[in-house]
Amino acid sequence: MPERRKLLLAGAGLAAAPLLAGMATGVRAQQAAAPVETGPFSVRAYGASSAASALEARQIQRRAVGPKDVLIDVLYSGICHSDIHTVRDEWRQTLPTRFPSVPGHEIVGRVTAVGSAVTKFKVGDIGGVGCMVDSCGTCENCLADREQNCLKGATFTYGSPDPALGGFTFGGYSERMVVAEHFVIRIPPGADLAATAPLLCAGVTTFSPMQHWRLEPGQRVGVIGLGGLGHMAVKLAVARRAEVTVFTTSPGKIADAQRLGAREAVLSSDAEAMKRLANRFDLLISTVPHAYPMQPFMDLLKLDATLVNVGALNDLEGPNGMALAFGRKSLAGSVIGGIAETQEVVDYCAARNIKADIELIRPDQINQAMDRVVSKDIRYRFVIDFTAERQG
Ligand SMILES: [Zn+2]
Ligand SMILES: [Zn+2]
Repeated sequence: MPERRKLLLAGAGLAAAPLLAGMATGVRAQQAAAPVETGPFSVRAYGASSAASALEARQIQRRAVGPKDVLIDVLYSGICHSDIHTVRDEWRQTLPTRFPSVPGHEIVGRVTAVGSAVTKFKVGDIGGVGCMVDSCGTCENCLADREQNCLKGATFTYGSPDPALGGFTFGGYSERMVVAEHFVIRIPPGADLAATAPLLCAGVTTFSPMQHWRLEPGQRVGVIGLGGLGHMAVKLAVARRAEVTVFTTSPGKIADAQRLGAREAVLSSDAEAMKRLANRFDLLISTVPHAYPMQPFMDLLKLDATLVNVGALNDLEGPNGMALAFGRKSLAGSVIGGIAETQEVVDYCAARNIKADIELIRPDQINQAMDRVVSKDIRYRFVIDFTAERQG
């Protein structure tokens, strides 16, 4: 047994032990809360016991706050389609879900304790956590700020082997998290916290390919699928002054796409429109969360242009080799972004007042919300509001 010490939460017995850096600032008397032990502690979370079961309240363990860790009281947690794929074990062939599963990787919360070596945060700051909570830190990709491509495999926010506690990591559908400070994003003062949460996955996932493939003002970009990721892709591409076309299967989203700033919105079933748009696009970003026939979209690319798939993580209905060759076209994949890039998109959006279109829900509405995501009945991101529970 390690020596029994206590890490202190904001406002609780501060004079007793200045164990934590930066505690003196940000402390507010009304935040007084019970001390957290250095050993693992229990928090309330929402998760599924099996692919067939609904999410329900449960207790999970969090590790003690280490020297480089921050403790976060979760305020808002977005519902990403990946969360649904995971709790329903829909990626079982390549990435079987380990149950119990507590999803959530679009997290914004308040820092309530910091380890002794933490420099990036102080108590009271607002931090964000996206899809990753750790990586090796030494491979060439990590050293190049591409932790998402860590050669040893990043530790994802949920469902990855948990090096501290054993078992598998638990995500942000929970009241508290302990995360290494490097993987916590600074949320600028004044940001709309609930509408910032989706930037941590949907925002960076669509921002990163625009950066890598250098989407320039005036270039033509197509966004395939107008959901959580797609609506962020439109906003981010419009902010770059690209000419945006949305491809959707939902007639009801045509007007929405234009409201979001798209120059044009096309039903992908409209063969005439698809033909008219052939060989026109500099970049296509596919946010559709499942496989679909891709060749009709590859036909829209210009010479040397790229379709980047960020939505579907299973077997794709791939393109025709001859069409690829004659058009010298590329089909690429991209997954989220590194920590520096995630900070960049959060700062970029804060500076331009870009935020997700969200619908706030209570934790007891998660299952219903997931059903609505699957039936495309959301414009455009559900965000779970944990603040009411906290006050209650
Ligand atoms: Zn996600
Ligand atoms: Zn690495």
